[in-house]
Amino acid sequence: MYFVGVDIGGTGIQAGVVNEFGKILFRKECKTDVDSGFEKVMNDINTLVRSLLDENNISIENIESIGFGVPSFINKTGLVTCVNLGWFEVDFMDALKRRFPEVKVNAENDATVAALGEAKFGSMKGASVAVMYTLGTGVGGGIIINEKAFTGAHGMGSEIGHAIIGENYFDCNCGNNGCLETFCSATAIIKYAQKLIIEGRKSVILDLVEGDLEQITAKTVFDAYRQGDEVAIKIITRFKMYLAKAMASIINILDPEIISIGGGVSRASDIILKDIEPIIREYVLYRNEDFAKIVCASLGSDAGIIGAAFL
Ligand SMILES: [Zn+2]
Repeated sequence: MYFVGVDIGGTGIQAGVVNEFGKILFRKECKTDVDSGFEKVMNDINTLVRSLLDENNISIENIESIGFGVPSFINKTGLVTCVNLGWFEVDFMDALKRRFPEVKVNAENDATVAALGEAKFGSMKGASVAVMYTLGTGVGGGIIINEKAFTGAHGMGSEIGHAIIGENYFDCNCGNNGCLETFCSATAIIKYAQKLIIEGRKSVILDLVEGDLEQITAKTVFDAYRQGDEVAIKIITRFKMYLAKAMASIINILDPEIISIGGGVSRASDIILKDIEPIIREYVLYRNEDFAKIVCASLGSDAGIIGAAFL
């Protein structure tokens, strides 16, 4: 038996045939044709999956289930609203079932799906309670309990990127102020670097982007940090403090065995995870007890396909 996982992103859709051991055997991708609308994207997904199977001589009867990771929240009745894809309350689950009547289909938020992949086959393997933060343009989250994705009573749980952990100088895309996403995403790092430089701080960051503030990326800031730049140290210290506060809160609430960080920002995990445990300990309630191991995700972008396959 095989499993199929499909990772739907704002620019591309990736599909993979996965075996029972979590290995991606075959893969195929296509562009996300956002401008042509929901039905066209769903037709493209149908074509993508069926051609992936045909090209590798796999009959759909040999597929246990097809799982989908979506960059949004899927409500209890299967409706999806996703600004990036231009979808407003589209009947996603119904559209999937109509296109794949022969096989069981499942779908979840992409960060939850990535967490499931890491919990089954990656950095959080074997943990009974596991939490993953996907630190990218935004901050996604996944909570996995006994190898099952936990999304709460209404399907909207696990949004730990929107845990409100402080007051910030700009509002979150969700309309609130103080969400983790506004402190610990790539966007947050870039915005804070731009703010400090505009306020007149001297920094190598500006040299690295040849004076163009718009060219600053999270990587620029981490590169400057490695050179001992004071502004970069200030940015990353703030980033780590808020990440530690968020992790301490999740430890107080869920007491996970393991917490993993993934996403583009986690490429600098050597800097992010170095000495973060004592900072977390300052905010944990039971300071003398052992708490979750903090690790870096190990499956990279494959976690999306692998996790989706095992929903
Ligand atoms: Zn928010």
